[in-house]
Amino acid sequence: MSNCAIVGINWGDEGKGRMVDLLTEDYDVVVRYQGGGNAGHTVINDKGNFALHLLPSGIFRDGVVNILGNGVALDPQNLWNEMQDVMSKGVALTPENLKISDRASLLLPWHREMDELEEQRLADKKYGSTKQGIAPFYSDKYQKKTVLAGELFYPDKLKEHLTGLLEWKNLILTGVYGAKRITENEINEWIDTYCEKIKPFVCDTGEVLKNASMNGKKILFEAQLGSLRDLDYGIYPYTTSSNTIAAYAPIGSGFPGAKIDRVLGVVKAYSTCVGEGPFVSEMFGDEAEELRKAGNEYGAKTGRPRRVGAMDLVATAYGIEVQAATEIALTKLDVLSFMEKIPVCTHYITDGKQVDRFPFPAALDESTPVIEYKDGWMEDISKVRKWEDLPKNAQDYVLYIENVVGCPIKYVSVGPERESIIIR
Ligand code: GDP
Repeated sequence: MSNCAIVGINWGDEGKGRMVDLLTEDYDVVVRYQGGGNAGHTVINDKGNFALHLLPSGIFRDGVVNILGNGVALDPQNLWNEMQDVMSKGVALTPENLKISDRASLLLPWHREMDELEEQRLADKKYGSTKQGIAPFYSDKYQKKTVLAGELFYPDKLKEHLTGLLEWKNLILTGVYGAKRITENEINEWIDTYCEKIKPFVCDTGEVLKNASMNGKKILFEAQLGSLRDLDYGIYPYTTSSNTIAAYAPIGSGFPGAKIDRVLGVVKAYSTCVGEGPFVSEMFGDEAEELRKAGNEYGAKTGRPRRVGAMDLVATAYGIEVQAATEIALTKLDVLSFMEKIPVCTHYITDGKQVDRFPFPAALDESTPVIEYKDGWMEDISKVRKWEDLPKNAQDYVLYIENVVGCPIKYVSVGPERESIIIR
């Protein structure tokens, strides 16, 4: 048995989806273990061009079993819409290749509205939420105020449970936010329109994983977002509301005893960050615009322009540490081909001192980057498939990063397509 987690090392959008799509060739099961439809994992392969939000990126491979674990924010409406979209492009989704944990909590119709209302209330102090209801969902989950997917098999109990929750939530919606009440009819319609559609896929995925493991099958855990968005280890409060780190994969998958042998950390060859929060190596003005355009850095889910910056070695080394990454995939190296000199953030100046340890979140706002410049290669590398064919300066850039962060860079990607990869 050899299991692997594919995780983001930075702020997300590192290209995890393409790495899962590539590696699924060697794995039997792919599990999403946290997060919800607020992600956008881009996968480009022989079946087309997809931005997956909640579906595991293994759904394109025949014979791979895909699981949405108990740790995800299971939004029946978004999931069903996404499933229909993927199926309309010729990808088969059946209860054999897609399984939803009966212990996954459901993102309820009011969670998205709560997200929107709270961001509106915060106005210019907002967190930059994708407004998919993820934060209200996880807070309610930990308050034990949502329902489990498996309750769909107990319709009478489910209705009673939801009626109780609705009574409570309407007090908040109307009393705190002055918003409209949600009616029982709306909830019943939501059950019929969306929950009933996903019900055939709901099962005891813990048993599926246990049996897969006993039969020597290999499991791939797919994370959403990155280390710096982890609820406990990230740039709180500008984190997501779940744990993005590999250590959470066994818990969020339904197989708490799972052993993870490989942790593949995905790192972008420069930095990007969507939404609010401190971003020490951020670039501005024309320089930033040029990089954003070259990397097509616009959110897969929201279309928002991503903030871009120099490769941040301080944040990356920390991200690798909290993920306990055993190897790295360095993505989007081709994007830097236009740069004569490539900026790299080697240290921060924090509280007047030069540091290489990622600081406590509250100290980030006052931190400034120490930037060094590396020589660029100024030629198209998108067709390169072998390490020895990369220009010397590109090799040096990769080796430099590898040396500073102390983790082997096993993959270097030079284009979004499945085959645009150099395996070292
Ligand atoms: P994820 O959420 O970590 O899966 O990442 P996203 O899908 O949000 O963002 C990665 C983006 O970069 C997608 O548009 C990918 O198609 C694209 N991409 C991934 N790897 C490469 C690469 O090596 N080169 C280029 N040019 N684009 C890439």
